[in-house]
Amino acid sequence: MSTMFTARLARAREKMTADGVDVLLLSVGADLPYFCGYEAMPLERITMLVVPRDGDATLVVPGLEASRVKPRPELFALRPWSETEDPIALIAKLMGPASTAAVGDHMWSGFLVDLMSARPKTEFRRASSITSGIRSVKDAAEIERLRAASRAVDVIAARLQQGEIPLIGKTEAEVSAELGRQIIAEGHDRVNFAIVATGPNAASPHHEAGSRVIAEGEALLCDFGGTMIGDDGVGYCSDVTRCVWVGSRPDREYLEAYAVLHEAQAAAVSAARVGTPAQDVDRTSRERIAAAGFGSYFIHRTGHGIGVEEHEDPYIVEGNTEPLVAGNAFSIEPGIYLPDRWGMRLEDIVVATDAGPDSLNLVDHHLAVVEA
Ligand code: ZN
Ligand code: ZN
Ligand code: ZN
Repeated sequence: MSTMFTARLARAREKMTADGVDVLLLSVGADLPYFCGYEAMPLERITMLVVPRDGDATLVVPGLEASRVKPRPELFALRPWSETEDPIALIAKLMGPASTAAVGDHMWSGFLVDLMSARPKTEFRRASSITSGIRSVKDAAEIERLRAASRAVDVIAARLQQGEIPLIGKTEAEVSAELGRQIIAEGHDRVNFAIVATGPNAASPHHEAGSRVIAEGEALLCDFGGTMIGDDGVGYCSDVTRCVWVGSRPDREYLEAYAVLHEAQAAAVSAARVGTPAQDVDRTSRERIAAAGFGSYFIHRTGHGIGVEEHEDPYIVEGNTEPLVAGNAFSIEPGIYLPDRWGMRLEDIVVATDAGPDSLNLVDHHLAVVEA
């Protein structure tokens, strides 16, 4: 696995050379585990992997965190800092003569402000300009890890569809907690979200599960996922959405809209081919939903990339003219949201491959009718 990290850092250095970036600075966020297998705690004490383009990397960590770091001397020197040291001065020094630095997008702005005053002549840009193009192309091993995470949430979605997760009389929050438990039980190390939205609450795409009680005669939207962390310290995410009708008789209008959504989602999955611009995949689902008269109720992009982070490049959105490449992994998740009435979304994770789109989520796409 060290070979894997070495290869990843080599790719980062190639991109740094191409872009004229002298040093890469990685702190809190998914870049750090992706490139070295260590995840920084989001603390007021700074952690930073300093990667000079032409020199050896150093992992600067709070002294009390040092024992959590798996030593990888072939990758980085470990430099713990003590409570009375100035870590910003230390990092500024390790940056050497760098005139351009790429700094982790998720690093706290407070640290960046301090670094900018310690290095007034250095130009700072986002680390994602170096890292996201590397991360967005998954190799075979990464795709299998995404597939394992997807399979795990598929199992839970199937239970939901088969009425094995009690719904009627439960609150959204109770069902959300149950989904969270199952996400962990099925092999994830972390729950990232478990959206449970019933009736009109589903019209808000990122509704926070609350006290509303699930009753017969309404639809329920569940969108959930987590992160499965491997022995190498790198985690891969799952993310799936399925809707069920609670009670025996689905509303006719809802059923008709769901048929549109189902067809639009499947069409977008089929369109997600190597060489197709990302925006064309978005247009594929959007045109179908618009043709059925729901265009103004599809209020978000069709999808987002997924990997070590739940949302990353490539984004499946109008304006993204980048053609999909083999190894891109992303969600296809169109939705229809009627304010104060209902909402629906259907989401799979899909990988673009030379053999065509490979859907990692295979759980039934039809609207399940649940009387539990
Ligand atoms: Zn979302
Ligand atoms: Zn989702
Ligand atoms: Zn998603």
